[in-house]
Amino acid sequence: MEKLDPSVPVLQQSYAEAFPELSVPWRADVPPRPEIVWLNEPLAAELGFDPAWLRGEEGLALLTGQIDGTTAQAYAGHQFGSPNPQLGDGRAVLLGDLVDTRGRHCDLHLKGSGRTPFARGGDGKAPLGPMLREAVIGEWLHATEVPTSRALAVLSTGEQIGPRQGVTPEPGGLLVRVAASHLRVGTFEYATWHLDEEVRRRLVEFTIRRHHPSADGPLGLLEAVTRAQAELVARWMVLGFVHGVMNTDNMALSGQGIDYGPCAVLDVHRRDAVFSSIDRGGRYAYGSQPGIALWNLSRFAETLLPLLGQTDPNFAVEQATTVLEQYEGWYQQAWSRLMGRKLGIDGAPEEVFALGQELLTLLEEQQVDHTGFFRALGEGRAAELVTGASSMQWMRRWETLRSATPAEMARVNPLYIPRNVHLEAALRSAHLGDLEPVQELLGAVSAPFTRRVGLDHLEGPGDGGEHFLTFCGT
Ligand code: AMP
Ligand code: MG
Repeated sequence: MEKLDPSVPVLQQSYAEAFPELSVPWRADVPPRPEIVWLNEPLAAELGFDPAWLRGEEGLALLTGQIDGTTAQAYAGHQFGSPNPQLGDGRAVLLGDLVDTRGRHCDLHLKGSGRTPFARGGDGKAPLGPMLREAVIGEWLHATEVPTSRALAVLSTGEQIGPRQGVTPEPGGLLVRVAASHLRVGTFEYATWHLDEEVRRRLVEFTIRRHHPSADGPLGLLEAVTRAQAELVARWMVLGFVHGVMNTDNMALSGQGIDYGPCAVLDVHRRDAVFSSIDRGGRYAYGSQPGIALWNLSRFAETLLPLLGQTDPNFAVEQATTVLEQYEGWYQQAWSRLMGRKLGIDGAPEEVFALGQELLTLLEEQQVDHTGFFRALGEGRAAELVTGASSMQWMRRWETLRSATPAEMARVNPLYIPRNVHLEAALRSAHLGDLEPVQELLGAVSAPFTRRVGLDHLEGPGDGGEHFLTFCGT
């Protein structure tokens, strides 16, 4: 038998073993000249990997998917509201799963690894820029305490891939992603549309065991997932994050955010902010995110209905509806709690909610930078950013409720965020071979609360952000 290095975690294939009907054994393409562009050393250590080992030959084999047992996952989904029965990992493989040094179970997943049986018309590849983008966003969300997948590594493949925008080819990239799992609403949709009910029962059990161990049966799972999504989206909202493509195949049942393709951040607070060039109808606008999460949860609930009402379908619908009707309350509670922390105030949730909502209306009317305002509030500079009687009145009410110190407020209101303009500029440099700006941005947003010398150019929104657009040509 092959001798195993005890210092290297062994990847399991728990998902593929439990769900062969949802998994296709599949090997990643061999990249011509793979090079690690960024290795997340702290995360590597948490997972139990020696970063030096990962940088070596065997580590590189793992990071490029040249290992046994990897699979592509089948899933379906609603994309921009329309059902798509056949999605799945078109350009990714699940490397396997492990339990990290803190006892948390997680998946390792490789994106950009070549065409799979689910690739449809796609080339199976990913450009380096969007893979770095996903890494930056993940580190920032993690640092701001938003549940998220994270990048373990970003690699360049050494090949040029077909142009996404324009006519010039792009350097190929790989993203090694760590997520609590890749179970999605779309996984349940696939099982509902193509497979026996028995598979869904097993999916319910598996999802409960992995993510929501205190949930009782399918209804308990629906409640746990609904609560987790309410919390996740509330965190996005107070932070000013726009996911950009909240299709049901991009909604993980763990409650982590995944798949940061066309995502962006608010500069000026604007409810109808849309940055994704493919979101022409504004379905996934900043202010629509809480409602869209509920829409997705309703699609999830539909997949559970036959498991709820053994004999009476009306009873099943009633039960699911009772859970979904609580989403708004759970969302508002989470939002008020988080907004209260950002504002540094103590107050009844209704009072905090009202004060927060009034503030956002003011910021929108006066076109004030979302992140900049909260930071300025803690630093005693907020009155300089707004004008008029209603603003002054708001400031006075805030002062009477304020309980946090400036230092406490600085610990929850980020100074450095991956501003659309700065991130884009950094990715442009990376494309041209200069990785320094991306490294700098990663460093800044990984410790987003503490002001550091030499990073002042990353504090504000930068120039031209009003017209920023992301392209899903990833
Ligand atoms: P996304 O918008 O990245 O969540 O992807 C939606 C679907 O398209 C998923 O099934 C992906 O696997 C697939 N897909 C995206 N890009 C490619 C590509 N370049 N080649 C093959 N499949 C892709
Ligand atoms: Mg996706």
